[in-house]
Amino acid sequence: MNLHEYQARELLQRYGISFPPAEVAATPDEARAIAQRLGKGGAGRVVVKAQVHAGGRGKAGGVTLANSPAEAAEHAARILGLTIRGLAVRKVLVAAAVDIASESYLGVIVDRAAQRPVLMVSPAGGVDIEEVAARSPEQIHRLGVDPRYGLLAHQAIALGFRLYRDVTQVRAAADVMQRLYAAFYGVGASLAEINPLATTPAGRLVALDAKIVIDDSELGRRPEIAALRDLSTEAPAEERARAAGLSFIKLNGSVGCCVNGAGLAMATMDLVKLYGGAPANFLDIGGSSNPEKVVAALEIITGDAAVKAILFNIFGGITRCDDVANGIVQATTQLSLKVPLVIRLTGTNEAEAVEILTRAGFSALTDMDEAVQRAVALAAGRP
Ligand code: GDP
Ligand code: MN
Repeated sequence: MNLHEYQARELLQRYGISFPPAEVAATPDEARAIAQRLGKGGAGRVVVKAQVHAGGRGKAGGVTLANSPAEAAEHAARILGLTIRGLAVRKVLVAAAVDIASESYLGVIVDRAAQRPVLMVSPAGGVDIEEVAARSPEQIHRLGVDPRYGLLAHQAIALGFRLYRDVTQVRAAADVMQRLYAAFYGVGASLAEINPLATTPAGRLVALDAKIVIDDSELGRRPEIAALRDLSTEAPAEERARAAGLSFIKLNGSVGCCVNGAGLAMATMDLVKLYGGAPANFLDIGGSSNPEKVVAALEIITGDAAVKAILFNIFGGITRCDDVANGIVQATTQLSLKVPLVIRLTGTNEAEAVEILTRAGFSALTDMDEAVQRAVALAAGRP
């Protein structure tokens, strides 16, 4: 789950990382009022920042400095009309602006190969870290963190020296790193990033941008974090799937897949690829699927215009094949299917399922290879 910058700032602030004062606005008037309030305490300059789940907002014109409240309102009006990487900007953050002398990068991600969090720092901050990694990888310094001990002070200090020469700055950066790591671990993030960590002309370190991605599997035990989800930014299909209790990920192919169990869903997608097709989605209807779940799944799959054939692949264990069959019959009477359906089921109550489907005019296969090959052929327009 992606968080907005203003939400990531709030979380990092709870861990003791400080950011320039800022507030969120949804209209130019609100932006003006915030700029006025912030201006009273400081120099009066603010930065107006698009709040969308996309990096590189600066380059896309979504981050602009404003010299007065009137200018802040103008920039807000323009940014609130922007679409950045396909995402409409609905809110802006208005933050007190800081003079920048240099920019560094700090980030923590999960390194699956190393099986631990990795802290990455670079003195070449501000720009996308992917760009730095491609152009000058020697500018990125990495440290695997043992989650039993967390990021230790001496490790953070050593990394700090990769960024700054001044000992006071090194210490300050190390402190931010330890807090960033603690936040990453504490909120169940898969990524936590500060870019840039700026130095001011006076030499002070200030965090100016924050990004946090929460690991979806951590949300169940962190309701206060789950509540930060911004539904307005999510693909409607994924939102519907979540509400129906389905694991769904949209992909770019033409074979709609409806499978029970994540492992079988992965295997099904592999087979679709093997036989020359491309899956339109990953969809796991779960273990104890009731007919309503199947109806919801079919609605979601058929809502995707790219889907040219639908493949059901059900291995009945706890999931009962007859439940799925009833769901298919129910769904196909409610929705008028415009694409062919290939059904493969085997396992618990298979015989009942075949009977239900046959009565409704469907045929069911039991062989997985045969079913996948047929779905791939149908999706490609071959009979
Ligand atoms: P991103 O492009 O989505 O990563 O958005 P950022 O918040 O990182 O802003 C992009 C760039 O705008 C930063 O790297 C800075 O160079 C600049 N910027 C952001 N905030 C300020 C500020 O307060 N003062 C100044 N001078 N520049 C800023
Ligand atoms: Mn940034």
